[in-house]
Amino acid sequence: MTREDFTEVGHTGGKVTFTIICDSEGQVKHQIGYSHSSPRPASLVGVYAHPDGFACGNIDMGGIGTPWNAPPFPNCIAVMMASDSHGRFGHECPRCSKHFRSDNIPAKFLLTCPYCGVRAESYHFLTPPQKVYISHYVESLYTAIYEAEVDTTREVVIDMDVLADSVTGDPRPDFYYTSTAQQTEFKCSACNSYNDIRGKYGYCSSCGWRNSAEQQRVALEQIRSKLKSGDVSASVAVKQVVSEFDAAARDYVNQLISHVPMKESRVKQLEKILFHNIDNFEELLSKFFDISLLKGMAADRSFVNKMFCRRHVYEHDGGVATTRYVEKSGDTDIVEGDLIRETVNNAHKLIGCLNRMIATFETDFQEMFPPEEFCIEVEKERRERIGQRNA
Ligand SMILES: [Zn+2]
Ligand SMILES: [Zn+2]
Repeated sequence: MTREDFTEVGHTGGKVTFTIICDSEGQVKHQIGYSHSSPRPASLVGVYAHPDGFACGNIDMGGIGTPWNAPPFPNCIAVMMASDSHGRFGHECPRCSKHFRSDNIPAKFLLTCPYCGVRAESYHFLTPPQKVYISHYVESLYTAIYEAEVDTTREVVIDMDVLADSVTGDPRPDFYYTSTAQQTEFKCSACNSYNDIRGKYGYCSSCGWRNSAEQQRVALEQIRSKLKSGDVSASVAVKQVVSEFDAAARDYVNQLISHVPMKESRVKQLEKILFHNIDNFEELLSKFFDISLLKGMAADRSFVNKMFCRRHVYEHDGGVATTRYVEKSGDTDIVEGDLIRETVNNAHKLIGCLNRMIATFETDFQEMFPPEEFCIEVEKERRERIGQRNA
């Protein structure tokens, strides 16, 4: 099913119930409960709010019987927050203000902005409507406590079901928070967490692993199947796979430009880097960052160079070999004016080479920007469990 970009995803619903107990001495106690009865997917997280109504910490709700972490201030209120109707949560980056979705408002690890890469405790990423909900929640609770009468027990309910069921139509209160579907949904290749981001490339919001190499692998696999089924010709496949590599490699370079302090002259050179030109990118990336995309690929270097030259001919010269091609490609079987007949084998081999090259970029890049170990460890344990079950 295709979905439309930037459409609203409603709240999952559910009810928060405050039970206010006032004894004969006028001492007030309160309990907070949450119930969910709709068939919509839902997950629940907790955030500590300051009595003034703003979020000030995450709650690690742990498992049953595990005590919660202490609040950052005395008198903090535990705010229960349910997901959107897909079981996900919307977030807004405190630095670049862009929206994204993930499957948690985590308490055990920091959240990473998929766009600008800033890393902070997840309550800093609350969206404006989520913040309004928190202040409404705190205010409702305090009003109920203030109005409690001696020797009574009273329930106050924040009913999100009523609101979730009437998404359109009536104007809704501003504490009804929803999220917004973005453009690219992906499961992180390192930690398996769900992400929904604007654009195509970004950091996994859970572990901080950049998805660019994985996006290339996915795209190249699709082109490979079309090549096998004959839906795409070998020369078109060559154009497409080089274009995917160019975009993914450029994305890593753009991240290096924004996160590594460097002189303006280096920025200018990197902005003009050519990923169709092996000598050019090998020289710049090795000199500036000690990254060699052709590491361990000495035997394939001339092949990759030839295919990059061919891509240029398919793109700009109608497939007819030019003088430039004959000079630069090292291809001795072709003379100027020949039509280049691309082979399916070449296209497959090129896909393998480009995937190796982007994997090198991925590893070297993440060595400079290490991911959150917590999420990677959890995923490693999960894979081991699955492995044991299947063994
Ligand atoms: Zn950001
Ligand atoms: Zn991840």
